[in-house]
Amino acid sequence: MSASSWDAAVIGAGVIGLSIALELSQRGRRVIIVERDQPGYHASRIAAGLLGTAGLPVGELPAMQPLKLDSLRRYPQFIADLESISGRDAGYHDDGTLRVARDIDDGEQLELLHADRQQHGLPAQMLTGGEALELEPNLTGALVSGLLIEDDVQIDPRRLIGALVSACLAKGVEIRNGCGIDRASRSDDGWTLTPTSASSSTESISAALVVVSAGPWCDRIRRNAPDDELGDAPVVTSGVGPVKGQLLRLRGPHLLQRVVRTPGVSLSQRRNGELIVASSKEPEAGWDRSPTDLARRTLWDRATSLVAQIGDFELEEQSVGIRPAVSDHYPLIGQAGDGLWIATGHYQHGILLAPATAHYLVEAIERGTVPDAIASFGTEARP
Ligand SMILES: Cc1cc2nc3c(=O)[nH]c(=O)nc-3n(C[C@H](O)[C@H](O)[C@H](O)COP(=O)(O)OP(=O)(O)OC[C@H]3O[C@@H](n4cnc5c(N)ncnc54)[C@H](O)[C@@H]3O)c2cc1C
Repeated sequence: MSASSWDAAVIGAGVIGLSIALELSQRGRRVIIVERDQPGYHASRIAAGLLGTAGLPVGELPAMQPLKLDSLRRYPQFIADLESISGRDAGYHDDGTLRVARDIDDGEQLELLHADRQQHGLPAQMLTGGEALELEPNLTGALVSGLLIEDDVQIDPRRLIGALVSACLAKGVEIRNGCGIDRASRSDDGWTLTPTSASSSTESISAALVVVSAGPWCDRIRRNAPDDELGDAPVVTSGVGPVKGQLLRLRGPHLLQRVVRTPGVSLSQRRNGELIVASSKEPEAGWDRSPTDLARRTLWDRATSLVAQIGDFELEEQSVGIRPAVSDHYPLIGQAGDGLWIATGHYQHGILLAPATAHYLVEAIERGTVPDAIASFGTEARP
């Protein structure tokens, strides 16, 4: 078995691994990404692509807000660089989000969200139900109120993945598809990665540093050091696991000008007519990735109750993915050993958090000190 040698090897070509590989290559490193399936094949191409700060209920995961805002602010430059390097449209649109309330309880939630945003200096405008309907006249039925968040944006994750792959290739990153890494072992020179026997290439890979960004599968990669006191332990023990999610991809006439959200459903329509109806959260489903009738019916009913004309749309795809999540639902970004780094657990915000994750993780690698922005998301910061 021969070996190839690199400055950095990234395990997993989801949105997180691709973004990190691109950042490393932009800083002059020779990088390989090893991907068991195809780039973005899992959660990263299933995601709805809502990049807003409007999504979280008030009070949920407050320590995430600064990183989310940081990443949201990085997005325009991230996309400009990506599109210029790749020559591809990354599917980014800054049309904003309208949250709507259809009963008194929802209305109270919107008031709280508005107050919370004001307290944090985040722009948002309270609207009457009538004003909200003027903005989105295809919404069905009476609305109690609306909250317009103009600086929320959306992206088509499938275009984003395509642009990231092209940009990585343009920067000289090797992307080895169909190559699952079974084991990683440490020597004086760095790391050696051993692919599974079923991989497209069984050539081992040597790299001075390794980034594990294998989504919910990170802890399955073993440390190959029989005489090591850690024995056959996982190379990282992040505690990350799967949270199943389903959404619908429909197609029909263009009806919505911006993302529309209620507590039960989010609708975002691309310029080409594709309408995303998002999404379920099924932590009890474990690793199962089969589409269910219940999720399809629930999402369909919620979408059509919000916009009746959606009933005439064509269902193109019922998408199923597993979000990588740690039990506290915060991401895990930082050093996991000598020359070993991890970025996973982005749960329901991996697309949003990709630019900040890549920037700060590579800063930590380059400078040898962890930037404050990710200090509370490292392995040693966890209980
Ligand atoms: C239904 C749904 C809706 C979502 N909506 C949004 C949204 O609107 N906004 C948002 O920001 N986020 C959203 N998310 C979350 C987002 O998709 C994830 O947080 C993000 O994609 C995680 O990216 P990742 O690169 O960490 O993991 P993944 O996309 O899971 O990528 C990990 C990759 O590692 C590879 N891999 C695994 N093991 C190995 C191995 N041993 N060797 C080599 N390769 C390996 C896998 O094949 C995979 O391609 C949504 C997710 C779902 C499921």
